[in-house]
Amino acid sequence: MRYVSTRGRAPELGFDDVLLTGLAADGGLYVPATWPQLSKDQIAGLAGLDYPTLAAKIMAPFVVGSVLEKDLGTLTREAYSTFTHTAVAPLKQLAANDWLVELFHGPTLAFKDYALQAVGLMFDGVLKARGNRITIVGATSGDTGSAAIEATKNREAVDIFILHPEGRTSDVQRKQMTTVTANNVHNIAVKGTFDDCQDMVKAMFADVTFRTDMNLSAVNSINWARIMAQVVYYFWAAVHVGPPHRPVVFSVPTGNFGNVFAGFVAKKMGLPIAKFIVGSNSNDILTRYFETGAMTMAGVVPTLSPSMDIQISSNFERLLFESLGRDGAAVTRLMDGLKQSGAYTVSDAAHREMLNLFAGCRLDDAGTTRVIGEIYKTTGELIDPHTAVGVHGARSVAIDPAIPRLTLATAHPAKFPAAVEAATGVKPALPAFLADLFARKERFTSLPNDLDQVKAFVRQNARR
Ligand SMILES: *Cc1c(COP(=O)(O)O)cnc(C)c1O
Repeated sequence: MRYVSTRGRAPELGFDDVLLTGLAADGGLYVPATWPQLSKDQIAGLAGLDYPTLAAKIMAPFVVGSVLEKDLGTLTREAYSTFTHTAVAPLKQLAANDWLVELFHGPTLAFKDYALQAVGLMFDGVLKARGNRITIVGATSGDTGSAAIEATKNREAVDIFILHPEGRTSDVQRKQMTTVTANNVHNIAVKGTFDDCQDMVKAMFADVTFRTDMNLSAVNSINWARIMAQVVYYFWAAVHVGPPHRPVVFSVPTGNFGNVFAGFVAKKMGLPIAKFIVGSNSNDILTRYFETGAMTMAGVVPTLSPSMDIQISSNFERLLFESLGRDGAAVTRLMDGLKQSGAYTVSDAAHREMLNLFAGCRLDDAGTTRVIGEIYKTTGELIDPHTAVGVHGARSVAIDPAIPRLTLATAHPAKFPAAVEAATGVKPALPAFLADLFARKERFTSLPNDLDQVKAFVRQNARR
């Protein structure tokens, strides 16, 4: 499979290079040159497969020509072997035609494990084949850092440095990162904010000498391989309740638009999906976009669902590329406008077409607390604040009630215990394998909010 940039001016690459590169050289995001197609019969044939087998089948067309092609089934089996539910991504029925897809049975209790556990192995496989090593740097305010660390710990070809703002992540989130003591894992607590951390990571990538010396790489959600691995659970969940004979609706708590874009890819591949409900908290740039056709940046406010506290959804560029007939120049014009004025507007026609498939839906913190309480009262299930935003979307959008609605449950309730307890009176327990998390020893390095000192630390500790 060849990959093209959404801005049309970067070289076409094969999968292995797309994996290692992340962002395209022209500032765009990589997408497959064509969308693989599954027939009705092929989709029906997925129904009885276990998760790793189904994952290898869905991802196979995207890695044609990669060194990973031959052993993909082994890779997916290893990637999901650590998940604590034998179904990997079990479905739970809340009401007639109302389902949760539980995507929190991986090592860090959030859906990001479903992609990153596979992507960590992909990095290792490609780097070993090339006799190469990389240094991953990233900034995190929560879920991404721990998922990336769990995915790359003890990997021979990778060193990973994750910056977090000291004292500003939740205790569970910090402990999930800092109690991993593998030699190739380096947690840096920065005396600053999340934005300070992110600015330093960007500056490290912008320093060409440093980037080249360290062979820097990123695992943020603009990496195509993560999207690809997320397509899997859309097929997995859908074939349990609907397709190929009847369509389904997916409700997706959304931040960077990576997760819901993976659903769009599944639709492009032939999975009958009638609608995507794009759930936002008070950081509702996407809801406002679907209402108006204008993407307008605003400041970020902290909410009960911090992994969706975003200013701009970077993966939306991939949907724009499709909506604008794969016109890279047109995408470039819009993104330039965004950079200059913090806003862009799509044509009426493109906006109308998107509304056929997508609906935005927002829920503030008071609503989130109410939904968590209601679900607990009516079903006995504890859901986390991100999932609550999705459940609200699934229940409020106007659509044929006969169509099954699937809400992606993106985090385990015990990851956000305070919000869940406030809404239900019940403190959700961590799963057994994390029960001693708070007793585990932490290891991290505190550094000042100073780029040179952080860079020096990376240089000293990367094995590259
Ligand atoms: C990352 C995250 C999201 C948002 O996913 P996107 O792919 O950025 O849209 C939602 N919920 C949880 C729990 C997350 O960790």
